[in-house]
Amino acid sequence: MDSNIAVVGTGYVGLTTGACLASMGHDVKCIDIDPAKVEMLSRGEIPIFEDGLSQLVREGIRTGRLHFSTDMSELGDREFVLLCVPTPQGEDGSADLTYVQDAAASMSSYLAPGSIVLNKSTVPVGASRLVATALGRDDVFVVSNPEFLREGSAVQDCLRPDRIVIGADSEEIAIRVAGLYTSLAVPMIITDAPSAELTKYVANAFLATKISFVNAVAAVSEAVGADMHDVVLGVGHDRRIGHGFLSPGPGWGGSCFPKDTRALIRIAADAGYDFEMLEAVVEVNQQQFVRVVRKVTELLDGPLDAANIAVWGLTFKARTDDRRDSPAIEVIQRLVAGGAKVRAFDPAVPAGLSLMEGVEVVSTAYEACDGADVLVVLTEWDEFKRVDLDDVVSRLRTANVVDARNVLDRPALLSRGFRHRGIGR
Ligand code: NAD
Repeated sequence: MDSNIAVVGTGYVGLTTGACLASMGHDVKCIDIDPAKVEMLSRGEIPIFEDGLSQLVREGIRTGRLHFSTDMSELGDREFVLLCVPTPQGEDGSADLTYVQDAAASMSSYLAPGSIVLNKSTVPVGASRLVATALGRDDVFVVSNPEFLREGSAVQDCLRPDRIVIGADSEEIAIRVAGLYTSLAVPMIITDAPSAELTKYVANAFLATKISFVNAVAAVSEAVGADMHDVVLGVGHDRRIGHGFLSPGPGWGGSCFPKDTRALIRIAADAGYDFEMLEAVVEVNQQQFVRVVRKVTELLDGPLDAANIAVWGLTFKARTDDRRDSPAIEVIQRLVAGGAKVRAFDPAVPAGLSLMEGVEVVSTAYEACDGADVLVVLTEWDEFKRVDLDDVVSRLRTANVVDARNVLDRPALLSRGFRHRGIGR
């Protein structure tokens, strides 16, 4: 059955969720406090880079099922309100719930009696109660419905999620929420709010753990002369382990893993458990940024403060324009702190962007290489696999490459005289 839905907070999660729900036949109003963003979206232009999203938004506007507004009073006829506002990292590592509480407080007086507020923002255990308190309405229900979409494949993830998790106080309310997603025909886990809230953190912490583990094993592979690629292949065929998320790289980052791992450490600490293992996962990740920088300095003939470095990739992964807590930025910061000059290219980042002192963002992968002592690949964009290596080698001052994503063709590089460092090989 089609429902009247509002999405509050129209960022990566809110916009994708709103557009997908509209494409499923629901009537969706997306509300955001940013008037410029709302105006842009109302024209069918989207402020983020996400595959398939702009078609979906335009289609939603054309069919009249997707609307954008800054006006909370439009919540009055909505049966479901999805909270998709940011929960950045607070000073002590815990999630900062200011946006969630502010949004709840500002929508409170407009909500229809009997409506359900779904919390899709990633929030610590107990936050559903906090939202209920900020709403101050005993005729409105609050449900935890964490979001698992991945930037870069957000539309696909939203339309074909692995599962839907619903944390509600009553079965009747949970079933009403489940009705929103029945057309997706995916597993639904119906539980209480604390379990749903914890599920999201555990998922992200486990994924971060996999990457830190594989990066630590990559260091061992390098030390003993093994090829990590083959090791991972051999390990991944074990069905208890699987192949997913076992690629070594420059470390994990993005808008979720760093803040969510720290928030889970904090949640555990507040509950009396010292999550040392997860602290080690975070520490291994910090070391990984340093290890990439070390690979660069090992290739240099002179000191880092006299070096020009070409960087390919600024976003935290391919197929997104999101640079929040990007490992690429972490590595660049360390290069620049060591005195290097960086010319960077990323297909989703405009040339001329002022990123930080000592970094110039240019408009092609080739331009970044002009006069550089080392080329460093930090994001796994497909187009880096298709570059003309002869052109690249002719532009570099020295044919050195650190491929921190293992995306380039190593034999092709070696045959052109490159000195090459990958991760784990
Ligand atoms: P975002 O920063 O891209 O978007 C948040 C939006 O909320 C912005 O447009 C902002 O203007 C708006 N906003 C802030 N306060 C508001 C208010 N009071 N009323 C209305 N709008 C308001 O954030 P995001 O990346 O979409 O993340 C949102 C939440 O979803 C976070 O808790 C995040 O951890 C979680 N999450 C994110 C991802 C992801 O891949 N980005 C995946 C799963 C879960």
